[in-house]
Amino acid sequence: MLTSDQLMRYEADRLVLGEIFPRMTHKILASGAGAFATGEVDVDMGAGSWEQVDLRLVFSPPYPIRPPKVFDRAKRWTPNMDRHLMPDHEFCLWLALVDQPDVATPGGLREFLLRLLPFLRDQFVFDDVGHWPGPEWAHGAQSAYAQHIIETLDLKDIATFRSLWPLVNGRRWKSARACPCGSGQPYGSCHERRVAQLLDVAQIPNLDLSNAIVGRLTLEASS
Ligand SMILES: [Zn+2]
Repeated sequence: MLTSDQLMRYEADRLVLGEIFPRMTHKILASGAGAFATGEVDVDMGAGSWEQVDLRLVFSPPYPIRPPKVFDRAKRWTPNMDRHLMPDHEFCLWLALVDQPDVATPGGLREFLLRLLPFLRDQFVFDDVGHWPGPEWAHGAQSAYAQHIIETLDLKDIATFRSLWPLVNGRRWKSARACPCGSGQPYGSCHERRVAQLLDVAQIPNLDLSNAIVGRLTLEASS
């Protein structure tokens, strides 16, 4: 059964959905399994042209700790990691722990739905040009997190990576000491804050991030 808090949240979500995606139908499952929304969303393609996408949004636990799942309900597109569409027709929207929308409040859900619109527009751009437009995450969690760590630490070479990696994995380093990266700056005014941003990412199980990062840096050095 749903608690009264859950019920209030789903009712608040219904208003947000009605505002952003007015043609969707929102159903709360009395069994306590959550809620879902189905229906067409209008995507502004610019120059007065619009496209429609039939979506299914699933708000089941761990929502609202995690965002709702979003599915290509009509199976309009063939699953393809290049367009961030998984084999079960769920869109792969944002990387957990890196760029995950905070939907703890109805305002957060509103922002999530608004961010979905440019993502859907890019699906149609993909149809036209045959590739995902704009900057792109590497495919697969391991490559994407490796890329995220390289960018966050602004890594240019493997030696710098090796000097900072133990700290990302929890080794203590005093702020006043010289940063292990070799910049000559105190750690506190060099890499300390950026390392702290990555402590959760380094703990993700079943990823060989160290090898993936060395691989990417090697590739970048040779290109
Ligand atoms: Zn540094």
